[in-house]
Amino acid sequence: MTTHLTSLKELQKLDVDIVAARRIVATFDPQIEVIEEPALALESEVTRLRSRLQEVELDERRVELSADEKRARSKKLDERLTTVRNVREEAAVHAEIDMVRRSLEGAEQEALTLLDQIRRMEERLEESQKALEVAQAEVEPKRDELVEQREAAKTELAELESRRDAFASGIDARERDTYESILAGGRTVAVADVTEDGACGNCFSVIPLQLQNQILHGEEMIRCEGCGVILAPPEAEGSAAG
Ligand SMILES: [Zn+2]
Repeated sequence: MTTHLTSLKELQKLDVDIVAARRIVATFDPQIEVIEEPALALESEVTRLRSRLQEVELDERRVELSADEKRARSKKLDERLTTVRNVREEAAVHAEIDMVRRSLEGAEQEALTLLDQIRRMEERLEESQKALEVAQAEVEPKRDELVEQREAAKTELAELESRRDAFASGIDARERDTYESILAGGRTVAVADVTEDGACGNCFSVIPLQLQNQILHGEEMIRCEGCGVILAPPEAEGSAAG
């Protein structure tokens, strides 16, 4: 058999292996994503609870401040009661005191409700944080294992690629170009053996006898008229060379 076809067939084997190795590398990221999903969901839950808690805490502080102001105002009004000059003035101050106190009661009630809400939110946040820690601890070893496997697969791929490059550089440039131009269209087969009954091993169209003879002699590269692959003589298994 001619050397160039053996080389091209060897190159094709390496390319098939590279495609398979790339496919293996690509399987890891989706697996890692699935594993990380529960922890990521808990993480965003914790973030959401934390910012909601902050909002309610701000609200509560605002209500406390407003209650403080009302208390101060109520105190001032109590003082003014001692300086009123007549019954009408006294009645007016009393009316205002009543109003401020009712408003203060409302603010105090609101503050209590918010404090209660804050307490419950803190409990929930703590629960979520604990669940997150558990999930992260569970994810870590699985994730590390997959990352390790992915890196090993990448190393294997890189080795295959460099072996392929070294091998390809040893092949006649014109033959290599033909081979690569066939694959450039997204095909995976560029070289095919002729079958025992004289057909193309890729598309199975029958090859004229004269071309079959040329392929057997291997003096030049013959391409299938049907599909364009480079044709190689049938694998001469066990048959004597002659
Ligand atoms: Zn063909």
